[in-house]
Amino acid sequence: MAADEGAVDLELDRAHSARMYDYFLGGTTNFPADREQAGRAMAVFPAVLVAARANRQFMHRSVRHLAQLGMRQFLDVGTGIPTSPNLHEVAQQVVPEARVVYTDNDPIVLTHAQALLRSRPEGRTAYSQGDARDPEALMKSPELTETLDLNRPVALSLIALLHFIPGERAAHEIVEYFKDVLPSGSTLTISHVTPDFDPDAIASTVRTYKAAGSPVQARSREEFTRFFDGWELLDPGVTVTHRWRPDAEHDLSQVTDAEAACYGAVARKP
Ligand code: SAH
Repeated sequence: MAADEGAVDLELDRAHSARMYDYFLGGTTNFPADREQAGRAMAVFPAVLVAARANRQFMHRSVRHLAQLGMRQFLDVGTGIPTSPNLHEVAQQVVPEARVVYTDNDPIVLTHAQALLRSRPEGRTAYSQGDARDPEALMKSPELTETLDLNRPVALSLIALLHFIPGERAAHEIVEYFKDVLPSGSTLTISHVTPDFDPDAIASTVRTYKAAGSPVQARSREEFTRFFDGWELLDPGVTVTHRWRPDAEHDLSQVTDAEAACYGAVARKP
């Protein structure tokens, strides 16, 4: 993909959630405005670094599990700046022929998309720049339709995305759209910030993001669980991210629910 940095406005003078998250994960694709805002979030919620790591590792474990269960096609919405291992690397480690479509609306992700396109030769990856609030356009994008067979099950992942889509109806409508168009056997993986364990810290964090021009909505366990209505939750159901099928690779035994602060779950379409 021709990532022409000169053609896109990266808005380096203001903080972007993708670059703040990159900073929390210890990445280098972030700028002074992002670091300043990230610092404010860390001041009110120091565990945000733990939460980011626990979230990223939930992505790894859920993708590996789905690949082991036989999923061959992945659609990741709100991908973020590449951080190794990326989703396709985890999936293709189990299933070399896995196909992965990534999408994000932040131009900085587009400029770094090359790292997402280094598929194993047996498989395939693609990147589609787009907004999750227009799921129909995404499902029709040539990058997606040329990469995924929409008559076969797709593992859709919305990892740490939906809390950036405030409003009761908007986020649920987006999820319902995807649930409707994906075929039986498809799966839905979501992780999402919750105020359930440390309401004060999360309320302050939400205010910090809002002040930086990035509205965030934390959701309760009940609101989170509703995203999966009508689909079958895979074992162990809705948990805080670090408790979802822990493995030997990620030692999260010291992490508390208040630190991880995000629910995670995976469900399958009957
Ligand atoms: N899924 C990755 C990154 C999470 S950070 C992970 O969990 O590791 C959230 C990402 O969602 C950012 O890259 C941000 O740019 C993206 N995002 C936020 N709102 C979006 C929208 N409306 N459409 C598409 N992407 C969005």
